[in-house]
Amino acid sequence: MKFSLKKSQTLSHGISQLDAEYGQAGVAAIYILEEAGDVTIIETGTNHSVPYIEQALIERGLSFDQVRYIIPTHVHLDHAGGAGDLMKLCRKASLICHPFGAPHLIDPSKLEAGTIAVYGEDKFRKLYGTIRPIDADRVIEAADNFSINLNGRVLIFMDTPGHARHHFCIYDARSEGIFTGDTFGVSYPQITTKQGRFIFATTTPVQFDPDALLASIDRLMSLNPKTMYLTHYGTMTPSDAIVRQLKNSINAFKSIALKAQDIKDDRIAFIQKKVMNYLLNQLNQMGCEQSQSTCEKIIKMDALLNAQGLDVWLNRH
Ligand SMILES: [Zn+2]
Repeated sequence: MKFSLKKSQTLSHGISQLDAEYGQAGVAAIYILEEAGDVTIIETGTNHSVPYIEQALIERGLSFDQVRYIIPTHVHLDHAGGAGDLMKLCRKASLICHPFGAPHLIDPSKLEAGTIAVYGEDKFRKLYGTIRPIDADRVIEAADNFSINLNGRVLIFMDTPGHARHHFCIYDARSEGIFTGDTFGVSYPQITTKQGRFIFATTTPVQFDPDALLASIDRLMSLNPKTMYLTHYGTMTPSDAIVRQLKNSINAFKSIALKAQDIKDDRIAFIQKKVMNYLLNQLNQMGCEQSQSTCEKIIKMDALLNAQGLDVWLNRH
C-alpha cells in the first residue's frame, strides 16, 4: 500500500486534518472541527504552521474570526508552539489548556528555556521561532471531565498523564472519537506492515511516567472510541492488537532504560540505539513494507527524543 501525504483533508463529522509541516511533512497534525459555523482548532503546530491553518480555513470558507476555541493537548511545542501567534489572529477565541500547562503558555519563558535544553538554541529558533505569550484572560483551564458545547457538539476533556503531566485528551461525542495528542503513541501512516499500523509510545522529556501512561491508555479505551485522532499522525481505528502493541512498547522502553541504569558515559546514545533496534525489530516481525533505511529516517527523531525522556525518567526513578 502506498500512502500519499496531503496538506489538508476533510474527514467526516465536520473534522479536517492538516499537516503542521513540523520540520517535514507527515510528522504532526492539526485538527479543525466545524460545527454550524463555529470552529475549534485542536493542536496548533508551531508558529510556522499558522499560515497552513489560515489556508485550510479559507479553503473551507471559514475565517480566523469564526474560531471559538484553540486547544493544544499539552504544551510541548510541536502541539502548542503556534498558540500565541494563532490567538493573536483569532480575536474571538479562547485557549483551552491543561491547568498544569496554562502558566507556561501565559508566560512561555520556562517553556522556551526547557525546550532549548532539549534541542539547543539554534535548532529551537529554527523549529519554533519566538513563543508569543497569551493573555491570561483568554485562557480557560480544563480540569478532568471539563466539557464545552460547540453548537450542540460536546467535547469532554480527560486528564491523561504519562507522556506529560500537562496532557489532556479530548473526547468528541459526535464522532465518538478521541483527539489523543501524544497519549496514544505515534504511528506514521507512511510506514505500513503486513499486520497493519505500526505504533509505539512517545517518552519525550521531561515527565514520562510509564504506569500513568498505561492507565491513561486504558481510560481512553474504556470509552470504546471509534476513531483515534493522533497528532503523530492522522486517524486510526483502535483495536486490541493496536493497544497491545502500544503497551508493549512502553514496557520495552522502560526495561531498556532500567538496563542502562549503571551506564555513566553517553547513556542517551546507548538508550537511543536500543530503542531504535527495538523499533526496527518490531517492524521486521510485523512484515514492514518499506526499507529499513526509510523507516529509520522516519522514526529517527522519535528514537532520540524517547532516549532523552527515558534518561530523565531514570534519573528521577
Ligand atoms: Zn509531547
